[in-house]
Amino acid sequence: MGRVIALTNQKGGVGKTTTTINLAASLALAERRTLVIDFDPQGNASSALGVDRSTLGERTTYQALIGETDLASVIRKTEMECLDVAPATGDLAGAEIELVGAFARENKLRAALAPIRASYDYILIDCPPSLGLLTINALTAADSFLVPLQCEYFALEGLSQLLHTISLIRQSTNPGLAHEGIVLTMFDGRNNLANEVVKEVRTHFGELVYETVVPRNVRLSECSSFGKPVVLYDIDSKGCLAYLNLAKELMGRNQPAVVMPPAPNAAMLAQVQI
Ligand code: ADP
Ligand code: MG
Repeated sequence: MGRVIALTNQKGGVGKTTTTINLAASLALAERRTLVIDFDPQGNASSALGVDRSTLGERTTYQALIGETDLASVIRKTEMECLDVAPATGDLAGAEIELVGAFARENKLRAALAPIRASYDYILIDCPPSLGLLTINALTAADSFLVPLQCEYFALEGLSQLLHTISLIRQSTNPGLAHEGIVLTMFDGRNNLANEVVKEVRTHFGELVYETVVPRNVRLSECSSFGKPVVLYDIDSKGCLAYLNLAKELMGRNQPAVVMPPAPNAAMLAQVQI
């Protein structure tokens, strides 16, 4: 049965989409059958996997979410043998409002996923930068959540809010939601603050933090504009190597724990937010 992982952080621009597509492509390279669910109305993951969003018509995650079609008929192949994508367009933004009065509105994605879970080893959900109904659907459908954290000013801002949302989800729609870990992204070793952030995050979150730190690497931003994951664009790049290592670590972490790390306290936030 596919392991469903929601990549989430309500801050925008922290590397959610980049991590989703490149981790997925690395898993696919290791011959794990992998599906990316684009769950952000911006549709960046779809474009980055080579989908021409103008051709999608009624076959997007939005239609699957509101029950107009099944998820299987939305899924497309990518250039990689083991990698599929369920693409999104701006329509998906409407679901936040349209589903408000719907019965079991938090369970829509989980229900849509049920018939296809067995066809994949990994299903990665690229969440939007908010904690609204789309993210709640993703966290309700997921076995675990993975948090990309940018090695930057205010890295931990909003993390307490995310962890609070997680605890609410665990008390209601998804008691078994596990913490898949924290991935540090866009690391620049020349920047003292970035080193400081890595140290603080490791001290605070311990083993939840992946050994692999994704460096800032221009190949990772370039490849998306060519509609390719970095393994198909520059396999020798540092960015590519990092995501291959991340995939290896993730595959090694078989059963993520259902633990709740302590929320960052004010003193810690003050240190990291400089
Ligand atoms: P999110 O999905 O959290 O909004 P993205 O993955 O779209 O974040 O990343 C934001 C921007 O930063 C994008 O332009 C992306 O290409 C770029 N980016 C992400 N990770 C890296 C990296 N490790 N090195 C260089 N650029 C990156
Ligand atoms: Mg994104």
